[in-house]
Amino acid sequence: MQVPFLSLKTTNQVFETQIVEKLSEVVQSGWYILGEQLTKFEEAFATYCGTKYCIGVANGLDALTIILKASEFPDKSEIIVPANTYIATILAISNANLIPVLVEPKHDTYLIDYQLIEKAITAKTKAILVTHLYGKCCDMDEINAIAQKYGLKVFEDAAQAHGAMYKNKKAGNLSDGAGFSFYPSKNLGAMGDAGAITTNDDLLAKRIKALRNYGSEKKYVFDYQGYNSRLDEIQASILSLKLPSLNEENAVRRKIAQRYLLEIDNDKVLLPPRNTINDDVWHLFVVRVKNRELFRNYLAEAGIGTDIHYPIPPHKQLAYQEWQNLSLPITEEIHQQVVSIPLNPTLKEKEISYVINTINNF
Ligand SMILES: *Cc1c(COP(=O)(O)O)cnc(C)c1O
Repeated sequence: MQVPFLSLKTTNQVFETQIVEKLSEVVQSGWYILGEQLTKFEEAFATYCGTKYCIGVANGLDALTIILKASEFPDKSEIIVPANTYIATILAISNANLIPVLVEPKHDTYLIDYQLIEKAITAKTKAILVTHLYGKCCDMDEINAIAQKYGLKVFEDAAQAHGAMYKNKKAGNLSDGAGFSFYPSKNLGAMGDAGAITTNDDLLAKRIKALRNYGSEKKYVFDYQGYNSRLDEIQASILSLKLPSLNEENAVRRKIAQRYLLEIDNDKVLLPPRNTINDDVWHLFVVRVKNRELFRNYLAEAGIGTDIHYPIPPHKQLAYQEWQNLSLPITEEIHQQVVSIPLNPTLKEKEISYVINTINNF
């Protein structure tokens, strides 16, 4: 049996007829940027997240960069960020002329260890940017309490957490502002690049709306030095038609995760924690294996695709040579051992069983 890690063709197949209809509708409308398709999606996604505002942008990296730019922190201010996040979270901070300060994750959840945040705060710290990694929300009560104590802003990288819950609130509505990506492989994915920012902050929303469009609030009048970072009508229309299925797809992901958690039974394979199973949206199902290469090769030979999120930690990347001597042992261990196994809403019961049996026989 062949179980690819992810087939975007298969995940989009159920929407294909509707997508083609939508494409034709947008083509015929004669309006392709900053139009009614975008407004419609922004309203729907704000309602979904429970926030006052949703502002569409070109991608997830821009979403985070623009939130930070709109915050107007002094140049070289420090932003606390998890050391084991996807590089885009950290690039957004650098792009906004700010300094990322890396904090280790918790060993079991892979989420930023809030108990280490206070030690990383200095006079230059302005914000904490957390990542709801793999689809699980961070410890937001504790993180927001620390921020309040020190007068810091909190932002979320929610690119892997569309629909994830934390105490009855959704990811994207747990801080001062959140960045989403709708990259095709995300839980809510477009047919190309797309992103959005959610916030309840009036001033931040006003600046973000201008920043995504060259810094303009009125045509040909520029109050800020902005970007060209807009979510186009075609992508917005596709996202609007896929959004109503997001909860259902997340529920399917959860059921698959539940089976993996109950049925994978192998001392060599460390499973993710199950205490937040119903709040997670299981963007990725990440296990830890000491001999990762052996495990991946074994699965590949059995026809099961895997991936690694992520193989090299940000502080070991050439892009950040200034961090080459940093020692972040938990982050490094995680990057050496994590493996993502197939989990997406199109997996069939027999494929799930095959993955489970194959792993149990490793
Ligand atoms: C995908 C992703 C991003 C970047 O989103 P793009 O739309 O590809 O720019 C940022 N952070 C995390 C955690 C992601 O998974």
